[in-house]
Amino acid sequence: MNREAKIYVAGHQGLVGSALVRGLRALDYCNILLRTHQDLDLSDQTQVREFFAQEHPEYVFLAAAKVGGILANSTYPADFIYQNVLIQTNVIHEAYRTGVKRLLFLGSSCIYPKHAPQPIKEESLLSGLLEPTNRAYAVAKIAGIEMCSSYNRQHGTHYLAAMPTNLYGKGDHYDLQDSHVIPALILKMHEAKQNGADHVTVWGTGTPRREFLCSDDAAEACIFLINLPDLYLDRLIANSQHSSVVNIGCGEDVTIRELAELIADVVEYRGQIVFDTLKPDGTPRKLLDITRLTSLGWKPFTPLREGLMMTYKDFLDHHGHTSPAASILSSFAGPNRAVKNL
Ligand code: GDP
Repeated sequence: MNREAKIYVAGHQGLVGSALVRGLRALDYCNILLRTHQDLDLSDQTQVREFFAQEHPEYVFLAAAKVGGILANSTYPADFIYQNVLIQTNVIHEAYRTGVKRLLFLGSSCIYPKHAPQPIKEESLLSGLLEPTNRAYAVAKIAGIEMCSSYNRQHGTHYLAAMPTNLYGKGDHYDLQDSHVIPALILKMHEAKQNGADHVTVWGTGTPRREFLCSDDAAEACIFLINLPDLYLDRLIANSQHSSVVNIGCGEDVTIRELAELIADVVEYRGQIVFDTLKPDGTPRKLLDITRLTSLGWKPFTPLREGLMMTYKDFLDHHGHTSPAASILSSFAGPNRAVKNL
């Protein structure tokens, strides 16, 4: 992408989208196209068609999605599949109709089977049953991947699908019910510290393993991928079994117990950590094999502790004043609280 190329970041207010904008700006890309949800409803085909016909972006990062943690996913599966299928179908198809040069679709590691061999290679896609707690979201994302590879096969487009592991970082969504585990635990431990509470409750058994990557690292990997020279991109699309998929991770995982202890340390919360085993564990492990990405020359940068410290600082800058009452109220605000961009 040359520095003047018109680049549309769909979902720029979300965790990955905002990191993409930061990353692109840091690299001096000066023609970044952004639309808020209020200005452009990506689930509305007519609006998306008009937007692409008018703006003609050359490159697209598709980071707009309805996302949420384990409880939001299992409580509102209809919303997750409906919204995500609409958003990605509209954007990918209109990108094709208007001749977008390259598109990068963001998925998630939950697209892989629950019992996929670890670390999970891209080839594990569609090789077994999915984890039930986020199956609707995963099936939507799998449809998006298949769209990218089908358009590549039939129309000769250059669409990639990046599958990041669990992400965290600046500008995350903090909610006790709907968030992913890192923002939920930061919020819980921060409030427990403020209130002098003697314990915090962590969902599940604490034994599931998860891999976590800082959103700025993930964005950097996405910009690296969309910029691959033609030769590499064509090889990637043509050679791999699931043509357009590339895992993005850091190559290491931790247990939820270890994560909780690390967050307690970062937040300086000294109380007890208690496990609520009535809450779901979800998939036992989902460590990604990142050989495909690293063999192209990319490496993760931010160690987990450092990333958590940076994230907690960002939390304090933006939500440090959050009162327990405010967060409890927000967790009862209904299903739309989970509508957030990836
Ligand atoms: P997942 O990777 O799709 O399962 O998404 P999550 O980030 O929501 O959950 C990851 C793991 O953290 C699961 O085993 C959860 O049960 C566990 N966990 C522990 N405490 C919490 C919490 O307060 N919120 C969330 N979302 N997950 C938690």
